[in-house]
Amino acid sequence: WPQQLQAAVPVLERINQAGFEVYFVGGCVRDTLLQRPLHDVDLATSAYPQEIKQIFPQTIDTGIEHGTVTVIYQKKAYEITTFRTESGYQDYRRPDKVEFVRSLKEDLKRRDFTINALAMNAQGEIIDLFAGMADLQQRQIRAVGVAADRFHEDALRMLRAVRFQAQLNFTIEKQTLAGIKTNAALLSHIATERIREEFIKLMEGCNRQAGLISLYQTQLYRFCPGLATYDFPKILQFAAGQITDEATVWSFLTYLGKLKRAQVRPFLRQWKVANNNIKLAQAAIELLNNYQESNWQLYIAGQAATAIAAQVLRLTCQQELAEQLIEQYQDLPLKSPQQLAINGQQIMQVLNLSPGPQIGQYLKQIQQAIVAGQLVNDYQTIVNYLKNNNLSDR
Ligand code: ATP
Ligand code: MG
Repeated sequence: WPQQLQAAVPVLERINQAGFEVYFVGGCVRDTLLQRPLHDVDLATSAYPQEIKQIFPQTIDTGIEHGTVTVIYQKKAYEITTFRTESGYQDYRRPDKVEFVRSLKEDLKRRDFTINALAMNAQGEIIDLFAGMADLQQRQIRAVGVAADRFHEDALRMLRAVRFQAQLNFTIEKQTLAGIKTNAALLSHIATERIREEFIKLMEGCNRQAGLISLYQTQLYRFCPGLATYDFPKILQFAAGQITDEATVWSFLTYLGKLKRAQVRPFLRQWKVANNNIKLAQAAIELLNNYQESNWQLYIAGQAATAIAAQVLRLTCQQELAEQLIEQYQDLPLKSPQQLAINGQQIMQVLNLSPGPQIGQYLKQIQQAIVAGQLVNDYQTIVNYLKNNNLSDR
């Protein structure tokens, strides 16, 4: 038993004692059986949200209209969702109607893949109504029910299949794969944010190559932002090596796509990437495209972007250059503006100046001199340097 599940057992027991069914469901059951680390513990119950709220003193209405209540128990939060059926799905992405039900089977039936449709009770017994255990054993991803129908209901499931393939290093069962090939174009109905989340997980998966090959062969890539014009064989070629963060995903992708620095932002905005990650990718790309072994370049890029650039170099089999970047950065006499031994206030005092753009210029020149190894980052040394009129008024 993973610790996170163990800690939740008393929560299940209380719900049981109140006369309701409750199970661990979804990823936490799958990952426990695969002995993988768990992200979140999801619980499903026959109790209605109001009934859950009567059992526990501390709850949050997380998504009460969808049946989800968060229970706080011994300072940990547990999402508990009432069994439900979904129907309608006229827009290929979400049900028109959600109905609370008392039957576990109905709830498991709406789930995407058999390996995600396993439930486990407080005693650790697995409830396997769709032969998910057999698929886990065979390491394959199989839709619950008729694959094509399930992808019509929610087209994101196709991308999730490919994501799980990369993440778990599973294969996609034949009918399920055929269903994706036929329906790939339905992905265009799905919100960019949801596509992005799955794509990032695919890229971070231990078998990214398998996921990318499926993305290509099923044509799903054509319905991902900006990928239709992408040089896919190129991406597939560099498959080895783990990616562990989102900014590296985007830097890797834009580097292989040979994007110029100015093209990085428009491309990533198509994916609705957060601004901080766009900035990191831009800085990493700038370094990757124009690295001339200058200290100043690395200083401007900063520690995070330099590490990302090095990671991209490793992923593209340029190990030596990667190490060179890292070592050069580690040897920088000054690694960030925060380390500077003087600030703008102090410069104004020492030189008896009033505020103005000049101060910024001086600060920049001091940093350049230190980063280039021409000046030691020490307050008194910098003051002497300033007083000796070593600065120009550019
Ligand atoms: P992760 O490890 O990424 O959290 P997960 O399987 O837990 O994987 P979630 O997105 O957290 O994925 O969803 C939890 C569960 O809800 C899934 O295991 C699955 O049973 C169900 N589910 C999630 N998304 C869908 C979907 N689009 N269609 C059907 N069922 C879904
Ligand atoms: Mg989950």
